Amino acid sequence: MNRNETLSALKNKPAVSVLIVGGGINGIGTFRDLALNGVDILLVEKGDFCSGASAASSHMAHGGIRYLENGEFRLVREAVRERNLLLQNAPHVVKPLPTAIPIFKRFSGLLNAPLKFFGMLDKPSERGSIVIKLGLMMYDAYTGRQRTVPKHRFFSRKKSRARWDQLNPQVINTAVYYDGAILQPERLAVELILDAEAENPRARALNYVSMVGGSGDTLILRDELTDNTYDVHPKLVINAAGPWIDFTNHKLGLSTRFIGGTKGSHIVVRHPELRKAIGENEFFFENEDGRIVLIFPLYDHVLIGTSDIPVEHPDEAQCTDEEIDYFLKLTRRIFPGLSVRRDDIVFQFSGVRPLPRSTVKAASQVSRDHSIEVLSGDWTNLRFPVYSLVGGKWTSFRAFSEQVTDKALAHLGSKRQKDTRSLPIGGGRGYPRDPEELRRQVESLSAWTGVARERLKLLFERYGTRAETIATYMNGGTDFVVKGLPDFSLREIVFLAQHEKVCHLDDFLLRRTMLAMLGRVTREVIEELARIIGNALGWTEEQKAAEVRRTLALLADRHAARL
Ligand SMILES: Cc1cc2nc3c(=O)[nH]c(=O)nc-3n(C[C@H](O)[C@H](O)[C@H](O)COP(=O)(O)OP(=O)(O)OC[C@H]3O[C@@H](n4cnc5c(N)ncnc54)[C@H](O)[C@@H]3O)c2cc1C
Repeated sequence: MNRNETLSALKNKPAVSVLIVGGGINGIGTFRDLALNGVDILLVEKGDFCSGASAASSHMAHGGIRYLENGEFRLVREAVRERNLLLQNAPHVVKPLPTAIPIFKRFSGLLNAPLKFFGMLDKPSERGSIVIKLGLMMYDAYTGRQRTVPKHRFFSRKKSRARWDQLNPQVINTAVYYDGAILQPERLAVELILDAEAENPRARALNYVSMVGGSGDTLILRDELTDNTYDVHPKLVINAAGPWIDFTNHKLGLSTRFIGGTKGSHIVVRHPELRKAIGENEFFFENEDGRIVLIFPLYDHVLIGTSDIPVEHPDEAQCTDEEIDYFLKLTRRIFPGLSVRRDDIVFQFSGVRPLPRSTVKAASQVSRDHSIEVLSGDWTNLRFPVYSLVGGKWTSFRAFSEQVTDKALAHLGSKRQKDTRSLPIGGGRGYPRDPEELRRQVESLSAWTGVARERLKLLFERYGTRAETIATYMNGGTDFVVKGLPDFSLREIVFLAQHEKVCHLDDFLLRRTMLAMLGRVTREVIEELARIIGNALGWTEEQKAAEVRRTLALLADRHAARL
């Protein structure tokens, strides 16, 4: 069923077992798990899928080494396991990431953990090599028997300089350990939705539909593309609205204060020397002020972040000039010989972490754990319970979703039939891990579809084994290279537009592809894509022009793109 068919079906049959509000990774993960277990379920997302906190991540699948210091051992154990499962189940998007920690001091930070334990640490400070070594030994112990990634290594000043010749000579040691890079989180989220819908025809996910109110046994939804409203009658509502959770509960007459969000921003720079200087490593370290920051290899660009600033309203999150200064300064601290300037920034973004409201003094010390807050009973004025999904990380979405699904199944009186632990995601299904096997698959697909080998390699890089479906589609009609984007073709774009729930032009630029984030869009490219996608989705000429204006405004306002 397409979007319009789903909405008209809702008019005729408004009853649904579970309604999920919010299409970020936690809502989508739960949607997939419930769909797999045969539940009739509707997910609504007020914008595009994965356009909230889930679009603002640092792209790391990580165990959270620093949570050890907070004594959050359960969280680290879970996150390390989930990181390993992501590497296994989504190998087309999640890659092992060697992570280097440059260290400037030897003894600093020894007291952090005990002070934190007694609640006496109100401001984080930079950790020295001894504390980092201890932390990494514990982290390795958690990674333990699974051996998905190698153990950490420690390098002297001299060896560090030999590995990274641009590194600040004041660095006394570097430690290298392994985590994972989620290269295209937004694509992973869409693939989870497509998997779920393919598995269960009674599972439907709609973007650009908001939950706007409700009482008794009814919720009111609004189609943001047409302004039409729809009543639904769920047995259970899952509020997965991330940093908007309290606002969403409020729409149902529920006054909650579950979230105490903090804003985090990033910049993406095009700087070949910096990209070369970091190699394939992420640099992940505590800045002078004790904040955790990163310099991350994102394809041929570099991602730099992030901040951790308390905010009241998630809609206000914008990357500010002060944050940019901070990011440029921290980069200079690690690579003082390289001049990275504002002009090198091709994209910037910001989002709010849906952290639990907390009384700790420093934002970075708020727990990154997740919980389900249940609201039910006569006082709510609702005839269904509402589960609010508080906190969580991209890395551990599967475990959180599993917990929510178990609880929802128990409420519905159903039993779990399938689990997601070893379930490949989207183009991760059958993805060749061995380069030789990948070469063979490309070779045979090229012979079969007539698509050139170089193009196929790119398709595998972008879409994993979904490249097979896309290449077959490309072969089914006249295809040609797109003006301004020589590595994209017309039918590839049409396929994504028609099969991956694209509603607006920016869905395609920001979340189905990396085009915007890697600074590959010009005004001409935007116009060309509006024409191709508009024709594929049946837009009028006015709609195409409106989409161009909307995209230009969005890129300028939220992402500081100069077009
Ligand atoms: C700066 C930053 C860096 C991070 N880095 C990492 C990292 O490297 N690794 C990691 O594992 N995690 C990271 N995280 C954490 C992770 O990204 C988030 O915890 C996770 O994405 C939260 O997902 P969510 O689904 O709960 O919320 P969201 O992604 O915000 O989803 C909630 C959705 O609900 C929608 N919504 C709100 N109200 C309504 C309504 N009334 N009707 C319909 N829809 C509604 C919103 O539009 C939104 O899309 C980072 C987070 C941030 C902000």
